[in-house]
Amino acid sequence: MTTPAHVLGCTPDTPNSLLIRNARRIVPIENLIIIGGGPAGYTAALYAARANLRPLCIEGYGAGGQLLISGTVENFPGFPDSVMGPDLVASCRLQAERFGTRYLMTDVTEVDFSSRPFVVRTGREEHLAKAVIIATGASARTLGLPSEEALAGRGVAYCSVCEGPMFQGRRLLVIGGGDAALEEAVGLTNYASEVVIVHRRQEFRASPIMVQYAQANEKISFLQPYVVEEILAGDDNTVVGAKLRNLEIEATHVEPAGGVFVAIGHDPANNLFRGVLELDELGYIRTEPGASRTSVEGVFAAGDVQDHTYRQVVTSAGSGCVAALDAQRWLASHAMPEAAAAAALAHS
Ligand SMILES: Cc1cc2nc3c(=O)[nH]c(=O)nc-3n(C[C@H](O)[C@H](O)[C@H](O)COP(=O)(O)OP(=O)(O)OC[C@H]3O[C@@H](n4cnc5c(N)ncnc54)[C@H](O)[C@@H]3O)c2cc1C
Repeated sequence: MTTPAHVLGCTPDTPNSLLIRNARRIVPIENLIIIGGGPAGYTAALYAARANLRPLCIEGYGAGGQLLISGTVENFPGFPDSVMGPDLVASCRLQAERFGTRYLMTDVTEVDFSSRPFVVRTGREEHLAKAVIIATGASARTLGLPSEEALAGRGVAYCSVCEGPMFQGRRLLVIGGGDAALEEAVGLTNYASEVVIVHRRQEFRASPIMVQYAQANEKISFLQPYVVEEILAGDDNTVVGAKLRNLEIEATHVEPAGGVFVAIGHDPANNLFRGVLELDELGYIRTEPGASRTSVEGVFAAGDVQDHTYRQVVTSAGSGCVAALDAQRWLASHAMPEAAAAAALAHS
């Protein structure tokens, strides 16, 4: 890391009051950097911008987040006729911009939270901030099949709470053998005519109670040990079934289905934060219950990157609000007084 060498005064054309000159260029100290441009990041940006913090949101090359690949969102309040996921997240972005959020559409490549101001790097660029909100999201694991990618949103789904109601009366396959898969399967029986759990092993990773619960459900049946070789589309390019292979006898057959739910886990976007912040046993950023504080004071987290339970747009947006309010309060009471920061940096 380049050690900041000189603290300069405030200039009228910079939003924040401290400027640091490092080896390459003069860098303003932002009040707040938000990493991630999904529902959590944009909601945090909206609240922070309305509190006059002029946040910088580094939204990543995947700006828009998971909603970019979603279809209709039926469960975000305020849209009685539903809303398309990409439209919803684009509106969130615009709303935060209206109040002064600045955006950088690039990926953060490294962070240094070992001292303040915090350092957030985007390739060769270095950004400094008094506080940081992390909202880098998560992604559903995929089977890695070309047919799966081609049919995502056309019968291939990853979230029963989000998309289950759109599969009323259909026969569905749920792929996976953990608690999440069995929970998805049970949840889907509220809509589906029948649910078939396809699992590659004879044993389940899911807890015995969850297995019993699924086994007791008369709408659920099991295919083990099977893997999916291909997801099949009909003339209208939507899912009509899947080609499955039995791992014991190496035989394949086609299983008809009106939808395939892939439930083999999620990966939080935590690469930047391993060894930097405390993560939980599943790799999600650990935050204080009911709040957004992480293990580093002044660093907050929101959305799916810290939530392996709910993973919804509304919960992500809600936690973005919480993070912005937490950051705002923290900045008001803890942020480095500027004179002290100047003195500290001048002596570094
Ligand atoms: C197909 C699909 C359909 C869904 N349907 C629904 C639905 O109907 N209803 C519902 O409530 N939920 C739905 N969800 C879930 C919902 O989309 C997520 O819960 C929500 O988007 C999470 O928001 P987030 O802001 O935490 O993260 P994300 O939306 O994942 O956004 C993460 C952001 O972080 C950025 N980022 C990641 N790494 C970096 C980095 N290194 N530097 C800078 N930026 C970075 C990405 O570019 C992205 O902008 C669906 C999800 C999927 C995949």
